[in-house]
Amino acid sequence: MQERVAAISSTLNRYPDREFTALRNLLADYLSGVLRREGRPTALQAPVPSSISPDMIWAANGSNEVLFHILQAYAGPGRSALGFGPSYSMHPLIAQSTGADWIEVPRGADFAITVDHAVDAVRTHSPDVVFLCTPNNPTGNSTPLEVIEAVYDATDGIVIVDEAYAEFAGPDFRTALSLLPGRPRLVVSRTMSKAFAFAGARLGYAAADPGLVDGLRLVRMPYHLSSLTQAAAEAALAHPDSLLAGVQELSRQRDRMVAGLREHGFDVVASDANFVLFRGVADPALLWTRLVEKGVLIRDVGIPGSLRVNAGTDAETTAFLTAMAEILSTHP
Ligand code: PMP
Repeated sequence: MQERVAAISSTLNRYPDREFTALRNLLADYLSGVLRREGRPTALQAPVPSSISPDMIWAANGSNEVLFHILQAYAGPGRSALGFGPSYSMHPLIAQSTGADWIEVPRGADFAITVDHAVDAVRTHSPDVVFLCTPNNPTGNSTPLEVIEAVYDATDGIVIVDEAYAEFAGPDFRTALSLLPGRPRLVVSRTMSKAFAFAGARLGYAAADPGLVDGLRLVRMPYHLSSLTQAAAEAALAHPDSLLAGVQELSRQRDRMVAGLREHGFDVVASDANFVLFRGVADPALLWTRLVEKGVLIRDVGIPGSLRVNAGTDAETTAFLTAMAEILSTHP
């Protein structure tokens, strides 16, 4: 990355490639690889597409900006966006910042979204945009492809599948990328912030029908992706295995935390992300404070009786589990 950034530094007097062509090609290659590995079995209805073409790719400074572009283009005043809460807190804020109304439909038991529940919500509210976050932040559980297909069929609006944490998911996870062919209103959003450990560089991306992507060109600021961002991301995508090397270790730490928390009797939501939501906490604010006093910072995401903890290094997991054991032995 340093070499690539140094190499282009003498060209910074010029505007960047506003079509981010090289980056777009690399993102298309990366997602095509994901699809080959994770596309759903061909036995189910539609055939799995063999690749994602560069004209299906959009990118921006973080997937928050990708989502903002989608909402700017396809939501706005007089329109509405619907999400299934609890979910990523920026979805309503981004939607409302375009002037759209936000409709929040509660998730079902164990934060799941079922076909009937989702189709009913979409038919009742007729939103212009539907968000499905899978794996879901902050709960960690994923939504089956059948639900995404059913939501798509039940609406004539845009369906955004936010797969920010997809690389951390277990083998049962199926990416919605495989649903793209023949679904011109579907968009799958991803980010290099999490699995690629690239949050500081700000690179989010999405795949969708080229026509949907074309609409995003109308709302982005001219030259929104700097040459520096493009060069760093291109270098990163040329070495995906090195950048994604942390994913396996983080997933291992997540699973250690799940096991440790279950041993303590907490109700842990099965997580496909790099964090774990655990329920059955009598006083989340108090437990959070006690952990901070022991030098461990986790998140109170405001879900009653719950706290969320992020996967980190082996030493961090040990510190968290040790602190929890100490706190629970003195304040059971
Ligand atoms: N989607 C989800 C579900 C997230 O949790 C986040 C970050 N917390 C984002 C999108 C945005 O990430 P970024 O802008 O860094 O790509």
